[in-house]
Amino acid sequence: MSLARRLLLSASRSAWLARTLRQRPFFSRAVRRFMPGEDLPAALDAAAGLAQGGLGSVLTHLGEQVTSRDEADGVRDHYQRVLDEIRRRELPAEISVKLTHLGLELDPRACRQHLLALAARAADARSFLWIDMEESRYVDATLELYRAVRAAHPGVGVCLQAYLRRTPADLETLGPLAPAIRLVKGAYNESPAAAFPKKRDVDAAYGALGARLLDLAARNGARAVFGTHDLGLIARLRDRALGLGLTGGGGAGGYEVHMLYGIRAAAQRALALEGVAVRVLISYGAHWFPWYMRRLAERPANVWFVVRHLLG
Ligand SMILES: Cc1cc2nc3c(=O)[nH]c(=O)nc-3n(C[C@H](O)[C@H](O)[C@H](O)COP(=O)(O)OP(=O)(O)OC[C@H]3O[C@@H](n4cnc5c(N)ncnc54)[C@H](O)[C@@H]3O)c2cc1C
Repeated sequence: MSLARRLLLSASRSAWLARTLRQRPFFSRAVRRFMPGEDLPAALDAAAGLAQGGLGSVLTHLGEQVTSRDEADGVRDHYQRVLDEIRRRELPAEISVKLTHLGLELDPRACRQHLLALAARAADARSFLWIDMEESRYVDATLELYRAVRAAHPGVGVCLQAYLRRTPADLETLGPLAPAIRLVKGAYNESPAAAFPKKRDVDAAYGALGARLLDLAARNGARAVFGTHDLGLIARLRDRALGLGLTGGGGAGGYEVHMLYGIRAAAQRALALEGVAVRVLISYGAHWFPWYMRRLAERPANVWFVVRHLLG
């Protein structure tokens, strides 16, 4: 992992930096590249706009590691309102939640209840509940909760990170559930013992895991989601899917591509025109600092963009 990436990922955990930089108008403007606005109406309007162009969306309210049970209850209530709005506006939208935002560290039992409530509400709204994957110390708890909620509701999926050395084993364990898996490369600062430090190893792991996920989709109806902007990887996985007779129409037994709002928008539209189900993950909310730092860490050119504007 490069020094710049490590520094940015460490900075993402600084409460002082978050407070200081959030007040800078420049940062609020720069972050708009990756998010349509801080409030829910802005995110819903963006989802409606994307739907007109044939793209689905996934909505996520920014925040993580809440420090009180009331806050976690508030996050659950917020997502319930999001699902009600998705239903009311008939949007092709799903939601994605972070378990530490729903109080995983404070009260795992309450977190499970929140997840169950959201999965039920998502089913009512004909939507879908995704669970993000955070740092590696949360993986066991996240997969355990995923299994518990999946046993009660089919409309729930979980993210797996290709950079973690443990992920092939996790995918095999989840396989028999015909799971919905969003495969990503991984966005956090992990030790070499937990994650591959070299990008080429992460990319190779992603290719192998993606192929395995497609096999599961063909065999038992798993939902294979490639959460990446890596067009080379997507092309290779599409070839493999074709060989297995899988459609890119999305849903159970198919594959689809999810990308982040504001990144590779032209490729998102092009894939959709070619018949691949594409969803755009729209993040919104006031707590954008750690998330924005992770986006900067993913691409050094983003940092130069910020530095140029700060100096200029
Ligand atoms: C839908 C979705 C959900 C995600 N959920 C999670 C999650 O739950 N947990 C988690 O750890 N990570 C998550 N991530 C982030 C993921 O782990 C990667 O950090 C991120 O997607 C960048 O990796 P990449 O696969 O796009 O490949 P890369 O090899 O990093 O990028 C490929 C190309 O995409 C473009 N690109 C990538 N990132 C950026 C950027 N920030 N700005 C501008 N261009 C860029 C560049 O052109 C780059 O060359 C998610 C990503 C997506 C798309």
